Amino acid sequence: MRTIHFRHYNNCPRCPVIGAEDIPGDEFYEILSLRFNIRIARDLCSSHVPHLVNRPPLERWLEHAVIDWEHVDHLPLSLGPGIMATLPGGCGMPVIDGNHRAARAMRDRHDFFAFVLDEAETQQLLRRSMDRSIADQHWQRMLHSKPHPKDVQPAVQEGEQS
Ligand SMILES: [Zn+2]
Repeated sequence: MRTIHFRHYNNCPRCPVIGAEDIPGDEFYEILSLRFNIRIARDLCSSHVPHLVNRPPLERWLEHAVIDWEHVDHLPLSLGPGIMATLPGGCGMPVIDGNHRAARAMRDRHDFFAFVLDEAETQQLLRRSMDRSIADQHWQRMLHSKPHPKDVQPAVQEGEQS
């Protein structure tokens, strides 16, 4: 028997599978024990306005993000804003969608815009993306946590994308 290998564009595992570009599939972003469903996140921010993300906190965030620099150059130029979530208890604002776009923007000294889910929306997203009781446990733990210097602090500016 032969194994079928899926071929990705650019021979890059982060690029779409050739021939499957239009097949919808759920995409997840995981950080620590949290799991975010990106399709649901996009639904939740469909009526939001993108915010310009401040550079220094974004650069600090990207130091911890897993960035595949080869893939950065595969991204279409036309990709829209990313998505940031807001964790409770000052636990930060992770970029849950668009880390490679953000890395490219920082490298090329361009602005990076993101839709921002507030705490209530982030909690709702987590409860719909993972086991509800586990999501609630993590939420309670973050709510009562002490701020940590490595936390990603509010990184967005007021004002809208022009
Ligand atoms: Zn790629």
